[in-house]
Amino acid sequence: MKKNLLICLVLLVISGYSSELLQNDVERDLNYIRHPNRDWIAPRYTASGQKILDVAIIGGGQTGLTMAFSMLQHNIDNIMVFDKNRENFAGSWINIGRMKSLRTPKTTTGPDLGIPVLSVKSWYSAKYSPEAWDQLVYIPRLEWHDYLNWFRRVLNLPVQFESQAGPLNWDEINSYFMFEVTTDDSTEIVYARKVILAVGLEGSGEWMIPDFVKENVSPENYSQAVYYIPPEKLKDKKVAVLGAGPNAFDLTLVAAKAGAESITLFSKREKLVNLHCFKWGEFTGFMKCFTDLDDAQKYNFISRMHEMGQPPIPECVYAAYELPNFNINFLSRWNNAFQNGDRVIIETDSGQEEFDFLIIATGWISDLTLRPEIINFCDKIATWNDRYQPPENRRHQKLMKFPYLGRGFQFTEKNPGEAPFLNSIFNMTGGGLLSNGFCAGTGLTGMKYSIDLVTHEIVKQFFMDDADIYYESLDKYNEQDFQN
Ligand SMILES: Cc1cc2nc3c(=O)[nH]c(=O)nc-3n(C[C@H](O)[C@H](O)[C@H](O)COP(=O)(O)OP(=O)(O)OC[C@H]3O[C@@H](n4cnc5c(N)ncnc54)[C@H](O)[C@@H]3O)c2cc1C
Repeated sequence: MKKNLLICLVLLVISGYSSELLQNDVERDLNYIRHPNRDWIAPRYTASGQKILDVAIIGGGQTGLTMAFSMLQHNIDNIMVFDKNRENFAGSWINIGRMKSLRTPKTTTGPDLGIPVLSVKSWYSAKYSPEAWDQLVYIPRLEWHDYLNWFRRVLNLPVQFESQAGPLNWDEINSYFMFEVTTDDSTEIVYARKVILAVGLEGSGEWMIPDFVKENVSPENYSQAVYYIPPEKLKDKKVAVLGAGPNAFDLTLVAAKAGAESITLFSKREKLVNLHCFKWGEFTGFMKCFTDLDDAQKYNFISRMHEMGQPPIPECVYAAYELPNFNINFLSRWNNAFQNGDRVIIETDSGQEEFDFLIIATGWISDLTLRPEIINFCDKIATWNDRYQPPENRRHQKLMKFPYLGRGFQFTEKNPGEAPFLNSIFNMTGGGLLSNGFCAGTGLTGMKYSIDLVTHEIVKQFFMDDADIYYESLDKYNEQDFQN
């Protein structure tokens, strides 16, 4: 008797430890709404018998995971997410984030796809307590990262880690994409009918570094703000930061903590941006229906936001201004930079100054030619420059290079008819901003509606591609409800 009790206790403890937080509740709630619930896409194979994925998702951050969940909710199960990081280390929050907490309000939802038990509030309250959630002002960055890992595990989302994917190739005869997936010790070829690029905010280009810095300055003397900077590179050093947005102030505090001798910010503006235009845009009409605007209207909104800029986090600004060794130079664009021994000279409109280390905090640029995943056909993808010419006083070269995406975030062709397969690649990066407004790629705020738009387009394409086959199946349908 005692022995049985002991075994029961051990099993209970083991099952308690092995199951995820809220596992039963998640399964129960998903079961309540599991309709329709049947496979509907016929499996496809290559001539040599290799399985072709219905959807390959490149990138296993919050966008890739949420897209995977949405696919499964639509009975598209033959999918795989590929992420180059090891398990539990995917996404930007652990890799590039430096801030203590998210800037998005804690009430913003997204990955949960409207299912309350999957919301961050539900997870956080179960992990700590409902009171702890009530007391929280902003979600700590690493808690959000943990939440995403829980979300992946509790939903059993299919992710292949340590797997660098791309570049994509298109098989014209058989209508599928092929690409290499490389791990530390192997390379496999993956086949897929549709590909979602969920490769991050900067995933339509790269984190921006001015050409003159790349060309003239030793990599030992500078870093983009999103990359890890070893503290010894900043300790006792005279540090210059280019930019005055959120990243610039985050990195000011990083440099101060590392023991920098001085930190000088350079801003092209005459004062700090203190309007958060993304906050302005957090209303249903703008978030859900931006994509219904015409091109001129879309360009007007986004170019205005581009002109307004992004404000730094107030707490970081106050903390920076408290530092005795912090300076900020307004109206101080960098025109050039030169290496001078192991130091760097910065040239601005108001003169030259010498520093030990430069931090570039100027965000990201869209330039499809820089993306390895689409390098084989980036010249065939339409950008805004191919489709719309704004008034000269509103022309921002940065925006003109954004991809011109369809309503479902699919690429479109530069020359119609030249590469129709492009509509099977879905760009869920920051590059979606101009075509479709706030979206998963730009952040959590835009996730809610953009996931639906992509899902709708993918479901539509699968259905329309095989409409004749579905008709044939109806024609032959013979599952009699009763016998006459
Ligand atoms: C400093 C900073 C602060 C931010 N703060 C906020 C905030 O408060 N709120 C907010 O909503 N947003 C914020 N953002 C925006 C944030 O980047 C996005 O919200 C979020 O990371 C988008 O998630 P994602 O899944 O699209 O991209 P990511 O989280 O960047 O994930 C992309 C994943 O794809 C992987 N990957 C890329 N290429 C390949 C490849 N070829 N093969 C395999 N894997 C690949 C990457 O390694 C990564 O794991 C912030 C961004 C920065 C830089």
